[in-house]
Amino acid sequence: MSTVNETLIRDVVAEVLGRLGGETTTTTRLATAQSAPGATPKSDSCACGAKKTSASSAAARGKFGVFQNADEACAAAHEAHQQLSEKGVAGRNAVVRLIKDICFAKAEEWGRLELDEAKIGRLDHKIEKLQGQRDIPGVEFLNPLGLSGDHGITLEEYAPFGVVGAVTPSTHSIPTMACNIISLVAAGNAAVFNSHPGAYRCAVTAARFFNQAIHRELGIENLACIVEPPTLESFNAIARHEHVKLLCVTGGPGVVKAAMASGKRAVCAGPGNPPVLVDGTSCLDNAAKCVVVGAAYDNNLLCIGEKEVFVLEPFFDQFMAALEKHGAYRLNSSQIEALAKAAFVFPAGQGAGCPQPVVNRNLVGKDPEVLARAAGATIPRGTQLLIGETRADHLFVEEEQMMPFLPVVRVRSVEEGIAAAKHAEHGYKHSAMIHSHDVAHMTAMGKALETTLFIKNGSCLAGLGSGGEGYPNFSIATTTGEGICNPRTFTRVRRCVMVDKLRIF
Ligand code: NAD
Repeated sequence: MSTVNETLIRDVVAEVLGRLGGETTTTTRLATAQSAPGATPKSDSCACGAKKTSASSAAARGKFGVFQNADEACAAAHEAHQQLSEKGVAGRNAVVRLIKDICFAKAEEWGRLELDEAKIGRLDHKIEKLQGQRDIPGVEFLNPLGLSGDHGITLEEYAPFGVVGAVTPSTHSIPTMACNIISLVAAGNAAVFNSHPGAYRCAVTAARFFNQAIHRELGIENLACIVEPPTLESFNAIARHEHVKLLCVTGGPGVVKAAMASGKRAVCAGPGNPPVLVDGTSCLDNAAKCVVVGAAYDNNLLCIGEKEVFVLEPFFDQFMAALEKHGAYRLNSSQIEALAKAAFVFPAGQGAGCPQPVVNRNLVGKDPEVLARAAGATIPRGTQLLIGETRADHLFVEEEQMMPFLPVVRVRSVEEGIAAAKHAEHGYKHSAMIHSHDVAHMTAMGKALETTLFIKNGSCLAGLGSGGEGYPNFSIATTTGEGICNPRTFTRVRRCVMVDKLRIF
């Protein structure tokens, strides 16, 4: 339709309406223009052209993000995404601020709630993980790329996908959901979560609270939806749903495999088994202090947490003594074997003829006292971590144990240490640490392991901005390579080109 015709029709309609109802207001003119063919869809229809049915909207009222049906959750999130688009960057910013403020205010209450439900980890660290949401990047992270030249100007912008389906782990249920919401909403998306069945009730409580607060401030009810209870079926329904354009999964090998097999694009924050190399060229006391801080954090639940240490032979005894000085308790070899017997199970029917070890969930994330009992040891109050000398092929080195026992292995050379660290990391390309002042050793280890995070002379936490430079996130997209998640991770890059004009010099 030509501009003349469009204007003509608008004026005729306005005149008719004016005759019928008295004054013709600007609003009437705009409304009439927008309902013309080819006009921008209004809020009762979607960008994709699908009409929002009043039935689905009505079903979503009063839920505040909590749904028993995954399809309803996805439909409600789709509607919420449209509403968020209308609120602009200011709306996204308001949501990010709300989530951060709520997490800070509720850190103690929700930390306790999560610990009571999941029964893994430490309260002090659960509280810290919620308070730390303040440092998750928001909309400021989405700087568009501007290009300018003889042929005009071009802008590459970071646009939202729409609805993102997210899976969160048992190890940090509310913290992962909260930082996912911050990143996803800063990028302009809505979310539907499938939490871990062992830590979903606390996530439901938090999601409902977030949505109620967002509704009060912005009028959007279902921006961060969650399915209650989460099941494999609800995961499949989310992954299959037409409005879910992207998946973000955080967890072990099973969920990564399932997400990648879904046919949808997936950002996969997968498992790790981070090794540490101590070559004796740097301060052994600092190395030991950092290792205890990182490996003891939340009872070794962090995916970036130190899981095994390789130490050059001449420095081994001094390093073990330094670990003890910083709150570790050393088990002897028979205690280590007693603990290993309790810590790993070999379920029948797994592995092709060879028994496959699986970590005993009853010991994952438990306090050092619980592990010590299983090992037959009595430890002083306040012990942060159990340690012990093992061989490089020990189960505790090979498996991602996620419990506060750290195996320490003697190696004869840096080359042997790097090779053993590479083997223990299993090619997850997740995280690794070195304590060294030798740049050649650092470079060799970095090149050999190719991990997403490689931390020199700090605890694993320095890799997420605590004691090192950089922003945090609880989803580190190792398997699919996006790295530490941020709002840009959840965007589509769209290019807008102006030919030959608007370059102002
Ligand atoms: P998990 O793999 O048992 O569960 C993670 C999530 O995936 C849960 O919500 C679970 O219900 C779901 N899930 C598992 N198998 C599934 C399947 N086949 N289909 C659909 N959903 C499935 O892990 P966990 O014990 O909760 O968390 C610990 C694991 O997560 C460790 O391996 C750790 O390294 C990893 N992790 C990684 C990161 C990261 O950023 N890379 C962060 C935290 C945890």
